[in-house]
Parts: sequence; C-alpha cells; structure tokens
Amino acid sequence: MKKLIDSHSRHIRYVRISITDRCTFRCRYCMPPEGVEWLPHDMIMRYEEYIRVLNILGEQGIDKVRITGGEPLLRRGVVEFIGELSTLGTIGDLSLTTNGMLLSAMARDLKDAGLKRVNISIDTLDRIKFAQITRVDAYDKVRRGIESALECDLSPVKLNVVSIRGFNDDEIPAFVHLTLDSPVEVRFIELMPMGCIARHGDRELISSLEIQQRIETIHGALEPIENGLGPARMFRVPGAQGKVGLIGAMSEHSFCTSCNRIRITASGGLRPCLFSENVVDLLTPMRSGITDAELEALIIRGVMMKPLNHGICRGSQPLCSSDQASFMNSIGG
Ligand code: SAM
Ligand code: SF4
Repeated sequence: MKKLIDSHSRHIRYVRISITDRCTFRCRYCMPPEGVEWLPHDMIMRYEEYIRVLNILGEQGIDKVRITGGEPLLRRGVVEFIGELSTLGTIGDLSLTTNGMLLSAMARDLKDAGLKRVNISIDTLDRIKFAQITRVDAYDKVRRGIESALECDLSPVKLNVVSIRGFNDDEIPAFVHLTLDSPVEVRFIELMPMGCIARHGDRELISSLEIQQRIETIHGALEPIENGLGPARMFRVPGAQGKVGLIGAMSEHSFCTSCNRIRITASGGLRPCLFSENVVDLLTPMRSGITDAELEALIIRGVMMKPLNHGICRGSQPLCSSDQASFMNSIGG
C-alpha cells in the first residue's frame, strides 16, 4: 500500500469533501444574509469525479472520508453517493457534517447506505437565539435530527458548537449537561477568522482553555480521554455517558503538527490546509482528460504544499481574505 507523506513527514489519511456550496442556513459567522454567489452547477464536482479522486486517494492510503458542504444533505443523490462510497472498499471511516435541518427524514437511509457517523452543528439550545445565529427558524428540526441520528446509531453523534463570546458562552454548562446522560460528544470549536467574519478580529473568540476552566469550575477536573490524532482534546465529566471535546484551532498550535487531513472543495480544488489559499485545481485537468497517473501526481503536488502550520493565532491578522474562496460553505470546514 502506498502512503501519502507530506513534506513535513505527516502521514495524510483523511480527506474532507465538500459536495455543495449551497446551504439552508446563513450562519452569521459563515455567510452573509443574502448568501454568496453560488458556484454555477457546471463548476461543481460531479459525484463520479469525486469517486475518481477518492479511488486514487484510497490507493494512497486515505481511509477516512468526511462529506461536508455547504449543507451536504441538500445535494440530490447524496444517499446513493454514500452507498457508492461505502462499496469502494478503501474507506474505513465514512462520516458527514450537517446542520441537521434535513437529517431527521434521511438518517435511516444514510445509515442503510453505509454512513457510519455524523457531526451535527448546533450553536445554541435556545430556539430564538438559534434563529438569530442561523437566520432560519429550524431549531426543532435540528433537535429532531439529533434524536434520529442517535436512534439510527450514526454514532458517535458529535455536536459541533462554535463558541462565540457574548452569544453562547452562557450556554457552555447546558451543552456539557447534554453529555451527562446521553452518549453524545459535544465539541466546542474556536471561532476562526474565515469568510464574513474574517475582518472582525478575535473579539468574539473564546479559547478552548477558557472553556475548560469554565466547565471545571462547575464539574471539577475533567477526565482526559485519549483521542489519537484528532484535533480535539477529549474529556469526560466523571460519570457522564458522553464526552466533551475542545478544538483549539486558533489557540493551540500542536493542532497543526499532527494534522493528517486535506480537503476537496465543491469546485474540485485540493486545499491542503483550511487556512492556506494554496489550492490545486483538480477539476479542470480532469475534464480536460488527464490520466489517472497524472491526476495522482497532481494530488501529490497538492499534498506537498501543505504548510507546517496555519500561522494564524489570537491577535494576528487573518491570513484569509474574505473573498468567496475562503468562505467555509465552499471549503467545508
Ligand atoms: N453546513 C454544515 C454544518 O454547518 O455542519 C457543514 C459545513 S460547515 C462549513 C462545517 C462546520 O464549520 C460547522 O460545524 C460550522 O459551525 C463550522 N464553521 C463555519 N464557519 C466557522 C468559523 N468561522 N469558525 C469556526 N467554525 C466554523
Ligand atoms: Fe450553512 Fe454550515 Fe455555513 Fe451554517 S456553517 S451557513 S449551516 S454551511
């Protein structure tokens, strides 16, 4: 089996593919209220094009695939696509990140198609605040989506909570409370200077260390849990069924040294680092008839461009411009 090793000796085993830039929500930190100019349909990767790339990545030892967006459940044919991915034979861990709005009706089919697990984004447990942050009144649908994911054993069910000072930091205890008698993993994610909040600076950022301290003030010392190469520091409140994860994308730079992931954007760009604007276009050459060997060489070139670290941290200027290419809905988070 071949291995994808980048120029900093990291073994790349994980790809996130964004299958659409469209979304049902307009989260304030992700998209402007009017949305962004959507990619024309012919600039979005077709399913068979993802499969061609994933076959090559599979030969290179990538065995972990996450489907994301935009909102991936919006794309027609996503269940059948997942069914095809699960028969490739190279993917050991097939997961999906969703805003949960359409999940309730699709969870069973997704599970039957071969999806292993889901991450569901939910930044508040308050219906009114939910409508404020997403600009859509869909709180109940998302809660039902979470229940369906648990019922269908799309596990572990992880809840992504972007922590925003002054918006949801008062809800940290309520989110942690969810883990006490449910097997969910609540993951607090530091707000990153991407897309429409790129120019806001970091005044709304809460570090994962501060979150940990706030939780420990209530529950006492958290029990650390081993998390392999994952970016989250994982913990459990003693005696709890579920887990708490802290993702210090901005404040913890050990994050980058073990990063084993690459991204394929909705328009077929290989993005070796979330924050780097170095992107290798795979789609145009694929549509111009490159061979699999040439495509493999292009992928390896992209992987070799993966920087050692993203170089942005608290207090620094965001490196990402706020043009459309750096909006999370087209990269996939
Ligand atoms: N629409 C799906 C969702 O929201 O789960 C999938 C795509 S979304 C871009 C993936 C993840 O990125 C979500 O958990 C979202 O909260 C997170 N995200 C988006 N913009 C972010 C930002 N500026 N900082 C931190 N996380 C962000
Ligand atoms: Fe849509 Fe996800 Fe962006 Fe929210 S974070 S606007 S749900 S893509």
